[in-house]
Amino acid sequence: MTNIIKILKPFDSHAHLRIGQKLEDLLCYYNNFAWVVAMGNLPEPVITGPDMIHYSTAIRGLRPQFKIILPIMLVRNTTPGTIQEAWMAHCQSVKMIPEDTSTETSQGISLYDLKKYYPDFEKMDEKKMLFSGHWELAKTKTGLSIPLVEREEESIPFLEKLVKDFPNLIFIIEHATTRSMIEFVKKHDNVFATLTPHHAILTTEDVLDKNGKIYNPLNFCLPVAKSEDDRRAVIEAMISEETWRDKFSYGSDSAPHSLGDKLNENPRPGLFTAPTGKETIVEIFDKNNALDYRLEEFLSIRGHNIYGKNLLQKTITFIRESWIAPKIIKSIPVFRGGEEISFKVINK
Ligand SMILES: [Zn+2]
Repeated sequence: MTNIIKILKPFDSHAHLRIGQKLEDLLCYYNNFAWVVAMGNLPEPVITGPDMIHYSTAIRGLRPQFKIILPIMLVRNTTPGTIQEAWMAHCQSVKMIPEDTSTETSQGISLYDLKKYYPDFEKMDEKKMLFSGHWELAKTKTGLSIPLVEREEESIPFLEKLVKDFPNLIFIIEHATTRSMIEFVKKHDNVFATLTPHHAILTTEDVLDKNGKIYNPLNFCLPVAKSEDDRRAVIEAMISEETWRDKFSYGSDSAPHSLGDKLNENPRPGLFTAPTGKETIVEIFDKNNALDYRLEEFLSIRGHNIYGKNLLQKTITFIRESWIAPKIIKSIPVFRGGEEISFKVINK
């Protein structure tokens, strides 16, 4: 039985660090990471090079050595000029969150309009930037709402067309949650994906009732947790020994919301996974007899490879020791709060 695990510091390919007080209060939960890709869906979204510099200054003002990658968001008024300017400011990636699919996405584009943004994709391609996307279709063409559990699957034809039209652009599918999406990623050379700890733990029954209504807002995130078979597919992709395993990397999608915002009539989507996510991954690998080279590859190495960063030699150590995760931190409910977790980090 492996009781001590030492690996290179993890790379979180998808996190929401927020801004203001939340950023200040919660940044310490990323102390053990080599790099963090911080999403820009802030109240004032990061959509240009100057926005990116402004956000990076806010983060580095708190922690000067913090290693962050900041994508700009693809929004309705993004132009090739916006992308060129961001690239000049060392922006490496562009993130799409389509309209109506997540927090602060009122400026998000519609998947039905993707063609309009082809000049933007051409610019990303030219500059060898990465295109990171939240792939969900929220509405039918006539405006009817699509059930939460079907949204990722419904977006795949749009993704397929784009991947075919831009065979050299590197796509990162954020938080893949379904077997069909994972199969899609495996099949396409230029497509990669992040996988979250919560989609490897939760299924739809932990969140929605039989009518598709949210009964447990504390487990509500987008994309919503899927079926048991989908959950298995997420775990299989994490622990795989096949060559396509290189396509999948860790993204916590840690998205802190206050308890009040979670218990609201319209609960905010997102789970605060930063305090328990990496430990959860170690547990999952342990339960699936995969505590070998695969853990370090998934948690630490692949993110570096996908984003073209040199591996830093600093390490993190986990020990097999049970602890109870706090339910709330700074008024924010914690993913798996109150549960017993069987591994902890010792070199904070
Ligand atoms: Zn996210």
